[in-house]
Amino acid sequence: MDWFNTMMASVLPYCPRWMARPFAHPYVAGETIEDALKTIEEIHSQGFAATVDILGEHIQTESEAHTVRDEYSDLYEAIGNTNGDCTISLKISHLGLDISEHLAMENLMVIVNKAQEVSRGITIDMENSELTDITLDIYRKIAAKYDQTGTVLQAYLFRSLTDLKALDSHQLTLRICKGIYREPPEIAFQTKDEIRNNFITLVQSLLKGQGTAQIATHDPILLDSLENWIEENQISPDRFEFQALYGVPMGDRLKKLREKGWAVRIYVPFGEQWFDYSVRRLKENPRIIGYVLGNLFKN
Ligand SMILES: Cc1cc2nc3c(=O)[nH]c(=O)nc-3n(C[C@H](O)[C@H](O)[C@H](O)COP(=O)(O)OP(=O)(O)OC[C@H]3O[C@@H](n4cnc5c(N)ncnc54)[C@H](O)[C@@H]3O)c2cc1C
Repeated sequence: MDWFNTMMASVLPYCPRWMARPFAHPYVAGETIEDALKTIEEIHSQGFAATVDILGEHIQTESEAHTVRDEYSDLYEAIGNTNGDCTISLKISHLGLDISEHLAMENLMVIVNKAQEVSRGITIDMENSELTDITLDIYRKIAAKYDQTGTVLQAYLFRSLTDLKALDSHQLTLRICKGIYREPPEIAFQTKDEIRNNFITLVQSLLKGQGTAQIATHDPILLDSLENWIEENQISPDRFEFQALYGVPMGDRLKKLREKGWAVRIYVPFGEQWFDYSVRRLKENPRIIGYVLGNLFKN
């Protein structure tokens, strides 16, 4: 099926938006803040927390970057008026990093001030490896100002364990994920087993240290292994949470995590950029086509 997925991923960008919509629909909570709020409310009613992201990255003009800054400020205002646990996840390239670091930082500071005003968390997502250093630098600056700030390390990168050890502190909140971008063998593990092993090493190292772990995976092998380790080592539930992307089929796995008394947070992307986002994701990982078609046929 790999050839079919790859072929579909290369054809989709040339298809009209209506044709691509079914491929985006399960994973995107609509186009507007109102759409996102409805999804967040539904997630809260199931006992899960949420983190919400406005789709888009690598903005190319200053005025676009200012628009995104204002949208995030409005989003904080909106989630600040709700009761459940909801944070925001964002990408610094979406705030104008390709134009200048100064612009991205200026925009981020406005958003962080708003986050502080409504007392909601912020996570700086991790992008491709060219942005790892700058993302971690910016994270350090923001975390020094606002303690409800977190960031992300990717298990496929060789450097992540060193980065994690350098960041370790009681204030550290770190999402561990496999990593979504294509990275070369000079800097990144390429096989599933190597990436899984490093994921486990990172989570265990974080939990043996002082920080809080956000375990972001849908991989049942990783979940089994980490759940067992957490139970055997009696890690306090306030030291970790599990995270999953909105719409990824997980059966009753997330519900079972909640029943153990553990926190689960759903990552909810929304926004007008759903088409570009979905096409990029599909090209990066054509296997997603297989998941979507599988779900279409199941329904
Ligand atoms: C909450 C959250 C935040 C993330 N933040 C970042 C980030 O900041 N930077 C970054 O580089 N990456 C991020 N990622 C993406 C991550 O790096 C992986 O690419 C992604 O989670 C797939 O890896 P996996 O661990 O789920 O394992 P996989 O082996 O890829 O997937 C395990 C199983 O989950 C299912 N599955 C996985 N993904 C999908 C999907 N999209 N649609 C349908 N089914 C799917 C499949 O059944 C698959 O067999 C994030 C992921 C999550 C869950």
